Parts: sequence; structure tokens; C-alpha cells
Amino acid sequence: MKSISHWINGAVVSEKSDKTGEVFNPATGQICATVEFATPATVDKAVNVATEAFASWRHSSLTKRTQVLFAFRELVNQNKEKIAALITQEHGKVLSDALGEVTRGLEVAEFACGIPHLLKGGFSEEVSTGVDVYSIRQPLGPVAIISPFNFPAMVPMWFFPIALACGNTVIIKPSEKDPSAIMFIAELLKEAGLPDGVFNVVHGDKVAVDSLLNHPGIKSISFVGSTPIAKYVYETGTKSGKRVQALGGAKNHMIVLPDADLELAADAAINAGFGSAGERCMAISAIVAVEPIADKLIEKIKERALKIKTGDGTKGADMGPLVTKVHRDKVASYISAGEKEGAKVVVDGRNVDVAGDGFWLGPTLFDHVKPSMSIYLEEIFGPVLSVIRVKSYDEALNLVNSHQYGNGTAIFTNDGGAARRFQNEVEVGMVGINVPIPVPMAYFSFGGWKNSLFGDSHAHGTDGVHFFTRGKVITSRWLDPSHGGINLGFPQNT
Ligand code: NAD
Repeated sequence: MKSISHWINGAVVSEKSDKTGEVFNPATGQICATVEFATPATVDKAVNVATEAFASWRHSSLTKRTQVLFAFRELVNQNKEKIAALITQEHGKVLSDALGEVTRGLEVAEFACGIPHLLKGGFSEEVSTGVDVYSIRQPLGPVAIISPFNFPAMVPMWFFPIALACGNTVIIKPSEKDPSAIMFIAELLKEAGLPDGVFNVVHGDKVAVDSLLNHPGIKSISFVGSTPIAKYVYETGTKSGKRVQALGGAKNHMIVLPDADLELAADAAINAGFGSAGERCMAISAIVAVEPIADKLIEKIKERALKIKTGDGTKGADMGPLVTKVHRDKVASYISAGEKEGAKVVVDGRNVDVAGDGFWLGPTLFDHVKPSMSIYLEEIFGPVLSVIRVKSYDEALNLVNSHQYGNGTAIFTNDGGAARRFQNEVEVGMVGINVPIPVPMAYFSFGGWKNSLFGDSHAHGTDGVHFFTRGKVITSRWLDPSHGGINLGFPQNT
């Protein structure tokens, strides 16, 4: 049985621990590895190593940092199939989807290669006679990244390339459900020339997370996961004086206006609803059909949903299993709850027929979902699409804006004016216009509103560079005999 330990100071390190986790292959239902859980002592060790490494990494030249990142980019490209295979084995998503995740993560590393430009400060000459002012941005120190199970490579890559490029050292606490991909990435960073101790991985659960949140050596926390934990991480981390960005859960609405192309809208609903078995924070889970098109749209989505092949992600299936049995059962229980609350089950994923003991659940489609139902109010995080029928654009907008989450949303229409109005009026962080999963490119920033994000900074893009640096402004005057004299008044510009 494969046993996964921590990555500290450029090497795999096994530490004394009384707790390990089981890692499953969701397509077989079998345990494929065990993972060591960090104690506070292990986290302390990693923070000490990262603190020591910071002393020299922060003074490494921008050229050196970009050389490492360019080499890392090449290595990830050469090894992306291997990374994808590790993701599929422990997460369950189909291989093509896992490859897509690696590619989207790599875009952030590519963005971070531009750090010499991104870190340029401002300079104002002669703000007062003989006085210049300039601004610089400096790294924070050791920073922590705590990531969820659903993107074991991409989500860490939203943060660490920029953190490293800015001169910080990093400790990652990946999800205990699929910890292998980040371990391989750690090896690639070392091969790319990253000095030992600059990038570290500690595995574990709440104990490891709490140790990071309370450790005085950790200067910032980048968290991605479910909303209750995101809120907890934000509150605990900020209380101990850290800078925190905590991205939470989602319930993404796709509004379909009556003038939309229904074939394209149905394709989009399927791709965004059932891709990665709905285990994406940008998955569409609520379709808001503006009448009179609901009947037609549902028919088209149903036709497509029935053709989706659920199965092992390494064997040509369209949709893989859910990540664990517990999660599969939880999603199935939402389907039962929706049925009980009066929604109509149009396609029932509970009946899916796949050989083996994998954590299977097929695509599920609900019609006549009401805003008061649990399947509408809560994040399900599985292959379940709910259709809510409304009478007008205003009713649709009001639904989205009344929801507790505000991560992503999409509108499908051929009416530019309506789309533009939506983009202005909707209270959501990422908006797609005829684009169902509007994940921003690396040079923009990723993040939701309301209960989908706690903190001020979104991930990557300019926000990322700002999050991982502190601003400093220098006012300088080089000595000149004419500058002498006593003046106790507040400095004024002359
Ligand atoms: P999760 O909240 O269970 O776990 C996230 C991380 O927190 C993991 O590393 C986990 O070990 C740790 N953790 C779990 N329980 C904890 C506790 N009690 N105290 C401290 N730490 C704890 O999330 P998940 O199930 O791994 O991931 C799915 C969730 O992540 C969904 O809600 C999804 O919407 C969200 N997500 C959001 C985004 C986004 O960008 N907003 C992106 C991806 C996933």
C-alpha cells in the first residue's frame, strides 16, 4: 500500500503521528493509499524550515525566480499526463478533465513568470524640491495555502506560483482525500531549481489547519473549501493577525432568456452541470428558465443527460464517480429530499448502472424546483441540476441576488442589452454571457461575492500579487546644503 508523507525542506519526510487518513480510488471503491496526518509539531517544523528559507529566497533576484518558474512550467507540461493520472486515481474525474485542470493551473504559473513587470513600483520625481517618492512591494514571509479535494492541482496553483514569484515561502495543506498530485508537483519544483525549504507540503485535517491558522510564523492564509470552514478559517486567521483570503461554496445559476438558442443552452447546461460530476465550485446547479421556454429546454437537457456515460474516468466515460462514498450518499440524500419536497425528478441518477464498487451516481435533473427547497438553497456539489421556472427577467435576477452564494453565474441570450443589464445588476463575482463556466484567465482574478468569499482579495491576477506582497512608500532626499534649517511644522511640499 502506498503511504504518503509530508514534503519538508525539499524531501519526503515521515513524522511521528498517531493519525493517518485513507485515500480511495473512487472508481473502484478501494483504498489506494494512506496519508500521514501532521501534528502541531510537524507543522511547526515546516514553518521553521520555511522561515529559514525565506531569509535567502526573498533576496533571490527576479531573474532567478522567473528562471525557476519557466523551468517548472516546462516540467509540468512534460509531466501533465502523469499529474492528470494521479488526479483521476484519487479524485475520480475523467482524464481529459484532469488534464484541463492542470492546464488551467499552469496558466497561473505562466502569469507569474511576468513577475518582473508585475512587481514594478511607482516613482514620482521632485514631489517637493529635491524630494522623490517611490513605492515598492515586498514579500510577506511564509504563507499557507489550504486546498479542497475538487482541484488537487489547479487550486494550489492559483496561489503558489505568485506567492513564490513575489519572494514568499510556502506551506501547503492539501485535501487529505487526494494528496498525491501536489507531492509530485513538489518534486517538479525541486527539479526546476527551487531551493529546499521554499515550498513545503503538510498533510492532515483540522489539527494541521488549526496549527497553521494559529502559528505566529505564518503570515497569510489562502483557503479554498466549503463555506462554513472558509468562514471559520477567515475568522480564526484574522484574529491571529494574519492576512486571509477564504473562498467558499457556491450555487451557480444559469439564466436562460426566451430568445436564447436552446440547443446551445442545453449543451452548456449539461457540460457545466455534470462535468467533473458537478464537483466544481463553478458548476451550474440551478437553471432559471424564463417562460415560455422551460418545457422545451428541459426536454433538450433530458435527452442529453440520458446519453451521458457514467464510469471509470480512465476508461472513456463522460462522467466519473463522486469522490467518496460519504459524499456520494450525501448527494443522493439531496435527491431524495428534493423529491420529498415536491420537485419533479426528470432524470434520476440514483438508478445508474455501473459495474464495480465505485462511488457512482448518474446525472440527475429536477423540474419545478421552488426557492424554498433544500436542493435549491444548499450547495449539493454533485451531478444534480435543478430547473426553476420564472416568468420574467426581473424574477430571475431577484432569485440570483437573493441567494446566499455569489460565486459564478451565466446568462444565455441573444439580446445584448439584456446581457449588459444583467452584468451590471447581478450580485455575483464572476459572470458569463453565453459562457457557462466563466473561470477568469490567470491575469484576471478569481473570486465570488457574499458567502462565496471571505476577505478582500480574490485569487491570482493583480489581486494575487497584492495579496502576497506588502506595499511600502519611500520618500527620499539626498543631502544638499540648502536643505538645512529648523522647522517644526508639518512637512509641506514646496
Ligand atoms: P472542505 O471545506 O471540506 O475542505 C477544504 C479544506 O479544509 C481541506 O484541506 C480540509 O482538510 C480542510 N478542513 C476540512 N474540515 C475542516 C475543519 N473542520 N477545520 C479546519 N479545516 C478543515 O471542502 P472540500 O469538500 O474539500 O471541497 C469542496 C468545497 O470547496 C465545496 O464547497 C466547493 O464549492 C468549494 N470550492 C470552492 C472554490 C471557490 O473558488 N470558491 C473552489 C473549489 C472548491
